Amino acid sequence: MGWNFKKRQEELASLSDKEYDLVIIGGGITGAGILLDASARGLKAIVVEKEDFASGTSSRSTKLIHGGLRYLKNLEFGIVRETGQERAIAYNNAPHLVVPEKMVLPIQQGGTYGKFMTSIALRAYDWLAGVEKSERRKMLSKEKTLEIEPLLKPDKLKGSGFYSEYRTDDARLTLEVIKTAYHRGGVALNYCKAEELQYDKSGQANAVVCKDLLNNEKHVINGKVFVNACGPWSDEIRTLDKSMNNKRLHLTKGVHIVIDRKKLPLKHSVYFDVAGGRMIFAIPRGGVTYVGTTDTDYSERKENPNVSLEDVNYLLDAANNMFPKANIELTDVESSWAGLRPLIHEDGKSPSELSRKDEIFLSPKGLITIAGGKLTGYRVMAKKVLDIVCKRLDVDAKCTTDNIRINGYAEASMIKEIQKGLEEINLDSHEFKAARILHTYGSQAFCICKSIKENNYQTFIEAEARFCLDSEMTITLLDFFVRRTGYMYFNINTVVKNVDKIGQVFANHYNWSAEKLEMEINSIHEEVKNRSQFN
Ligand code: FAD
Repeated sequence: MGWNFKKRQEELASLSDKEYDLVIIGGGITGAGILLDASARGLKAIVVEKEDFASGTSSRSTKLIHGGLRYLKNLEFGIVRETGQERAIAYNNAPHLVVPEKMVLPIQQGGTYGKFMTSIALRAYDWLAGVEKSERRKMLSKEKTLEIEPLLKPDKLKGSGFYSEYRTDDARLTLEVIKTAYHRGGVALNYCKAEELQYDKSGQANAVVCKDLLNNEKHVINGKVFVNACGPWSDEIRTLDKSMNNKRLHLTKGVHIVIDRKKLPLKHSVYFDVAGGRMIFAIPRGGVTYVGTTDTDYSERKENPNVSLEDVNYLLDAANNMFPKANIELTDVESSWAGLRPLIHEDGKSPSELSRKDEIFLSPKGLITIAGGKLTGYRVMAKKVLDIVCKRLDVDAKCTTDNIRINGYAEASMIKEIQKGLEEINLDSHEFKAARILHTYGSQAFCICKSIKENNYQTFIEAEARFCLDSEMTITLLDFFVRRTGYMYFNINTVVKNVDKIGQVFANHYNWSAEKLEMEINSIHEEVKNRSQFN
């Protein structure tokens, strides 16, 4: 059976008969990775997510699978090595979702690093991450730098470092990791909020009470081991468990803005520093370029954090300073998003000084909490957790996820077949479109193309909606436009143009009333406003 709403209802109905080896709270990339590792080790595992999968930080990152050059500045060599190795594993196992991306690091007079330091840092970065010889950094002269990236401000430019990273779609990566786990017996329920932990007579956690947020029904999930992978919400679960200690989360907000690629036509990603030593990315992607991020303390509502005018102006100033010819204005900002970093609090340190390292907290009542860390390190974070879980369960099973291909696995060469597939069904096979399809759905793209033919769809997006409803546990229009397709961030006009049509596809599928359909469509208009209007 496809991984869809019907499957969700069946799983919910059979919960009371079961006892899981492992119950995971939180369906971001951390929970997804843990579900996959557990399922691959033969454990009976389930993840519950209170909204949609990846609706927290895991759809709001800079969307890079990177070794973390900034760690080198803090001399955190261990993290650079580990994330560098994980970057290589992520690429090998999911080339459809982890795409090579060349980065330009401009060296400017008065900037954080000089030519010599940049050269050494990037060399060390490649070495620690085990980068292949042909992919290692090159140091470029001022002239060569302006040749490959003519928009850069020439005044104080002294040259650049040109090095390798990877970009991804964080929400799709989370989803495909969950689907990989699903094919190995893992269970994943969205819109299912953990509200209470229950304990046996000896005080050890033995169940979690969840509320199905689609109908407010409560379900008890029995389990042997419990993991809290709630990212910015982790302390809420630790509070439920009454196991808060002297360490707590410190949330900082990171904002990205999206600009039409014609307005900021970068050829490569650029990683540049701004006054105060912060580093900013400008990343071209399909028809847009996105710029981020900010790093400011945050204590407001954690769901869908807002992007303020101040955040946008900060990023516009940074981009205009580095690419003055682009002359980007507020009205050029098409979309935006904000994510929360769940950092571990340390007295006296500023947000950008806090370590991005993951940390595990073990509660005396059995709850295992994992917080902090990076998208890039999700697999190794899961391994650390599962090593503890297996010990507790007295199961002798090793981690194998370094060799597990992620669902939809497809190599870059498949792009030609996708282009051919699009031509066969008389759809415009623009280069960006074929690349987007490959890097969104991988090999599943063929299933979508086939359904266009079979159902005589007039547009690709209708077939996408069909696929997402049948095989991707897509429940709301926001799930579809934000996390399954990324249109809300990277092609907001497509959202506005198609919301009524796709709303009707969902309404037919789920038998929505006229009121429900109107509510769903309004939620999209509201989100378009949140993403593109600022005050
Ligand atoms: P989340 O994705 O937040 O998942 C936690 C989930 O728990 C949420 O979906 C939430 O709804 C759910 N939840 C909460 N309470 C409950 C409950 N009671 N019951 C059920 N579910 C619940 N890393 C990189 O490697 N590369 C990058 O380029 C990068 N850029 C970043 C940029 C920014 C601005 C930020 C903020 C982070 C960035 N990171 C990056 C880090 C990375 O995004 C995070 O480390 C990662 O997404 C965290 O995933 P998570 O699963 O731990 O948390």
